[in-house]
Amino acid sequence: MLSWERSPSLASMRCDRAWVEISLPAIASNVREFKRLLSPRTELMAVVKADAYGHGAVTVAQTALAAGASWLGVATIPEGIELREAGIQSPVLVLGATNTPEQIRAQVRWRLQPTLCTPQQALVFSETLESLNQSVPVHLKIDTGMSRLGVPWQQVAEFVGLVRRLPNLTIASIYSHFATADSPDPTGMQQQQARFQAAIGLLQAVGIPLPRLHFANSAATLTDPALHLDMVRVGLAIYGLYPAEHLKQTVDLQPVLQVKARVTQVKTLEAGTGVSYGYQFIASKEMRLAVVGIGYADGVPRNLSNKMSVLVRGQMVPQVGAITMDQMMLDASSIPDLQVGEVVTLLGCDGASQICAEDWAAKLGTISWEILCGFKHRLPRVPVGQLSAEKQPTVQ
Ligand SMILES: *Cc1c(COP(=O)(O)O)cnc(C)c1O
Repeated sequence: MLSWERSPSLASMRCDRAWVEISLPAIASNVREFKRLLSPRTELMAVVKADAYGHGAVTVAQTALAAGASWLGVATIPEGIELREAGIQSPVLVLGATNTPEQIRAQVRWRLQPTLCTPQQALVFSETLESLNQSVPVHLKIDTGMSRLGVPWQQVAEFVGLVRRLPNLTIASIYSHFATADSPDPTGMQQQQARFQAAIGLLQAVGIPLPRLHFANSAATLTDPALHLDMVRVGLAIYGLYPAEHLKQTVDLQPVLQVKARVTQVKTLEAGTGVSYGYQFIASKEMRLAVVGIGYADGVPRNLSNKMSVLVRGQMVPQVGAITMDQMMLDASSIPDLQVGEVVTLLGCDGASQICAEDWAAKLGTISWEILCGFKHRLPRVPVGQLSAEKQPTVQ
């Protein structure tokens, strides 16, 4: 809960300016859609790192678990603690690296399951846990080609052998991560998959019992059922976005997040008038200008200035001039009677029209993951349906 929400007068102002609407039924539907793809032996981890890709970790986690996810994935220890403090009991895997005795103690205290990537890290874990007289399940990460975290795949047998000999550690899973799962070219994935299989084969050859194995992110889960193994780790798709154009036919995902703001002033500009810092836009004829209460400090990238449109009354309306920290301007000439307080949709649906995170990502030369994670905490996350009347909502 954000601190200002404890104040009733501020709580009533939650959606006076700009906010993010989250459809929890859409999250549940996306999780169920993924569960349908999986065999009964395959578990689904909902990846809720980075505040559930900006959607609000606790509500998303609760919704995903109720819809059939059985694990949660976070990047950091504080992200895991937030889930535990909210009373969430499911297993939580910390996907990021943790190394210090303090981090190890925190994971024990909050029952967060660590990822181990190097022999040195395993030794520190074992020593620290011995001094605490605690034992924890650990997840071993293998680098099969992402070149990020993980022990090089050629060294898996030694690494697993070491961890098995160390006291106070039990191997709960072995996993790896794909670098190119969203590419239509399967070469990179096939190479990683072959390396993973080779590494697992080495373990089997020396008689090491296999723990849970997992490899697939959203894209890999959609690409090939052979990659599902014992668990899939699904992030982006839970939030209703497809990891790649060529994977759009595979499942029916519901969009989850909408970004909305209100018109705060409307005025007429004479031809030749400059708009916003630097006059990147100059009215070529008389125009109706609307000011909207959302800007780059809310997470709308400033590089979208003069390039984006928003939806007002179901119509596409162009944004004009530089996007400023807290506000932006629209050319609202097509809606001459536009009123202060009306709702503008930056991302999401209005009538038959829709603007998605992919549209922004394409304009910016980035990926939809980054767009979702960019919305700041200044924007309250509101479950859809909590806002009833468009103009003056009653907010709980
Ligand atoms: C973020 C992450 C995922 C989820 O990836 P998506 O492409 O969003 O599904 C899975 N595994 C690991 C290790 C991750 O860091």
